[in-house]
Amino acid sequence: MTDSTADLVILGGGSGGYACALRGAQLGLSVVMVEKDKLGGTCLHRGCIPTKALLHAAEVADSARDGESFGVKTALEGIDMSGVNSYKDSVVSKMYKGLQGLVKSRDITYVEGDGRFVGERTVEVDGQRYTGRHVVLATGSYARTLPGLDIGGRVVTSDQAVNLDHVPDRVVVLGGGVIGVEFASVWRSFGSEVTVVEALPNLVPAEDDFLAKQLERAFRRRGIAFKTGVKFTGAEQSDAGVTVSLESGEQIEADLLLVAVGRGPNTASAGYEEAGVTLQHGFVPTDERLRTNLDSVYAVGDIVPGLQLAHRGFAQGIFVAEDIAGLRPTPIDEDGIPRVTYCEPEVASVGLTEAQARQRHGEVESLTYDLSGNGKSQILQTRGAVKVVRSKDGPVLGIHMIGTRVGELVGEAQLIFNWEAYADDVAALVHAHPTQTEALGEAHLALAGKPLHSHG
Ligand SMILES: Cc1cc2nc3c(=O)[nH]c(=O)nc-3n(C[C@H](O)[C@H](O)[C@H](O)COP(=O)(O)OP(=O)(O)OC[C@H]3O[C@@H](n4cnc5c(N)ncnc54)[C@H](O)[C@@H]3O)c2cc1C
Repeated sequence: MTDSTADLVILGGGSGGYACALRGAQLGLSVVMVEKDKLGGTCLHRGCIPTKALLHAAEVADSARDGESFGVKTALEGIDMSGVNSYKDSVVSKMYKGLQGLVKSRDITYVEGDGRFVGERTVEVDGQRYTGRHVVLATGSYARTLPGLDIGGRVVTSDQAVNLDHVPDRVVVLGGGVIGVEFASVWRSFGSEVTVVEALPNLVPAEDDFLAKQLERAFRRRGIAFKTGVKFTGAEQSDAGVTVSLESGEQIEADLLLVAVGRGPNTASAGYEEAGVTLQHGFVPTDERLRTNLDSVYAVGDIVPGLQLAHRGFAQGIFVAEDIAGLRPTPIDEDGIPRVTYCEPEVASVGLTEAQARQRHGEVESLTYDLSGNGKSQILQTRGAVKVVRSKDGPVLGIHMIGTRVGELVGEAQLIFNWEAYADDVAALVHAHPTQTEALGEAHLALAGKPLHSHG
């Protein structure tokens, strides 16, 4: 077989890899992209898209169950998981086809196979070598488990949970981070008894304490049990169920255990270390231009330490393609990447938590606007709040929101944070009534010293 050369050889066709390929090809670079499974990676096939389809089905179930409270005569007869899965799979497959068509149309050389980075800017696939002027490592991540906890049977990760063919009666979710609370939310809406176990003191521990407390309150109201600040010690499964043991001595009986304890980088079997790529706890550290320690070798997406989010991967992929094409893009500010947890109620944030802001900027101010003053939120019958943190008499440093549908507000919140807006700048903007965006406007009006619909 003859060897190939290209401007850009990309290992991995997930969010980071394919975004890099598409932008690179758009900029006139010759691109080879190697993928061993399915184009689109975790996000499209096992992550963002299928889980958000499940969450939407869960919202429909809640609406059916709660119709009476809006004067609409509905009842939830039950959940047909084969119907839910075919709806979810149809969304994934439509997007998968679209993405395949897009890659084909951009003249990208798509190589199916297990690739290995062998150094010298070269990736080897089934004996064929692809050498790039530049190589981009984008092999993504896998669901972690804990020592002694084997995945199989009634013990699953999100990879299996996303395709479950039944609604479990009782579930334990190990891990109260984003993935854990999203599945907890889906299953509760579908009628399961759910218990979340989190070793840290709060659910969604990466978020501002205020959001964590609010989410815990909302989960309590929804009947989602959770145990925080307690370590898991073991699980035993039998034909009848799975018994989950905690350090406190407590045991919880369930039908299913979801292990959602974070995601590790896929870097062990792709040749990185042998080829001289520096690894840190398995991740690939980079500089702000996403360069690894090796010349002309970049890394993007979940293998790079930081937020493991699809839109971060897209942005990094685009950044690298533009950098290679000589456009000198501005490095990505990790703090300015929006974060949304799509459970009910949703949690959304951008920028620094109050504690981080205080640590980095000294004196800060914060203001919390309760959604009880927001018309649209009352129409939706949601509780929640918008919290804004700013440096004393300075720009906004962080925005933290909780409530039904607040994920959609993060678009405006990220503009406020990334454009370093002051409360006065935002207070001058007119927000459409009645929308939840008004809550953002009101919070900034209050910070600017002219509150409208706020008490106290
Ligand atoms: C349950 C779940 C829900 C999520 N929800 C969200 C969400 O709502 N929003 C959000 O922003 N993020 C979400 N994420 C995270 C998101 O999926 C990841 O951040 C994103 O997919 C990372 O992109 P990536 O390109 O780094 O890796 P991946 O998407 O994992 O892609 C890596 C690709 O590389 C391929 N590959 C690996 N090794 C090789 C090799 N040796 N040779 C060839 N190919 C290889 C893999 O097959 C894979 O296709 C979720 C994740 C999970 C698990």
